[in-house]
Amino acid sequence: TMVYPEWIWHNGAIKPWADATTHVMSHAIHYGSSVFEGIRSYDTPKGPAIFRLTDHNRRLMASARIYDMPMPYSVDQINAACREVLKKNDLGKAYLRPVAFRGLGGFGLSADTPTDVAVAAWKMGAYLGDGVLEEGIDACVSSWQRFAPNTIPAGAKAGGNYLSGQLVAREARRLGFGEGIALASTGLLSEGAGENLFLVFDGALHTTPISAALLNGITRNTIMALAREVGIPVVERDIPREYLYLCDELFMCGTAAEITPIRSVDGRQVGIGRAGPVTRRMQELFFGLFNGKTEDKYGWLEYVDA
Ligand code: PMP
Repeated sequence: TMVYPEWIWHNGAIKPWADATTHVMSHAIHYGSSVFEGIRSYDTPKGPAIFRLTDHNRRLMASARIYDMPMPYSVDQINAACREVLKKNDLGKAYLRPVAFRGLGGFGLSADTPTDVAVAAWKMGAYLGDGVLEEGIDACVSSWQRFAPNTIPAGAKAGGNYLSGQLVAREARRLGFGEGIALASTGLLSEGAGENLFLVFDGALHTTPISAALLNGITRNTIMALAREVGIPVVERDIPREYLYLCDELFMCGTAAEITPIRSVDGRQVGIGRAGPVTRRMQELFFGLFNGKTEDKYGWLEYVDA
C-alpha cells in the first residue's frame, strides 16, 4: 500500500494530504480537462535543487494556454508552491506534480469553470523499475498509434493525452515488456508512453522530431544540449520503425524515466544488450548535473532554498 506525503499545496495554501479533495462533478473528471507537469528534485552538493523548475512550469502555462484554460497563478507562484511542498514534507530527492484542471462550475464541454491548481511531491525511484538504469528494459512497439496532429495536441501535457499513454503502457506490461513505443499517425516513430526516444548510429544521437506527435520533452532538450557540448552529433529526423532493430544503442528519456537504456525491442536485442557507450556517457553527463561532475552552465538547478 502507498504511503502518502503529509502535506500538499492546493489552491494557494498548504494543507494536509487528505483535505485536498474535489467534487466528482468537476469538469476534468468527465472530460480529461487537466494540464500537469512532472518535475524531479535531486540532492546536490549545494543542497536540494529542482531540475529546470521554471522550464517545466512555463510548459504548464503553455499547456493551459493551448486549451484556453485560465491560470490563476503565475510561474513564480507555482515555482514557490513547488519549493514549499518539498520543504513542508522534508523531501530532498523527489518527484513533483503540479496540476491545473477545470473544476466544478458547469457540465457543458465549453463551460467556463474555475481552474483548480495543486502541487504534490513524493519520493520516487527509477520509474520503470529497480535496476533499469543499469540493465535496461525490454520494449515493444505498441499496437496503439499516437494521436495525429490536429486531433489532440501532443505539445500540451494534458490529462486526456494520457489515455493514449495508458493504452500503450498497459498493453506493453500485459505482454511482459517494460515499456511501449508508439508510432505516429504517419507510421513513423513517435515516442514512448511517457518518454522520448533516442537511437544511436555511429556515435551520433538520432531523435524523432516534434512533428512526430510527441511531447517537447525537457529531458530530451537537456540531452541534446549536453551531447552537443561534448561533440556528440544530434540529428532530429523522421525515423521508420525498422531502425529500432538496426541502431547501435537505444534509450528512453523523461523526467520520470531519466535515461533508461532499452536492451531489446520486439524481442530483438539492441546492440550489446545493455547500455552502450553513448548511452552511458549521456547518463554520466546527465546525472553529473546532480552530483556536481557536470557544470550547470544554463542554471538548470533551481535550489529549494534560493
Ligand atoms: N513524452 C511524454 C508523453 C511524456 O509524458 C513525457 C514525460 N513528461 C515525456 C515525453 C518526457 O518529457 P520530460 O522530459 O519533459 O519529462
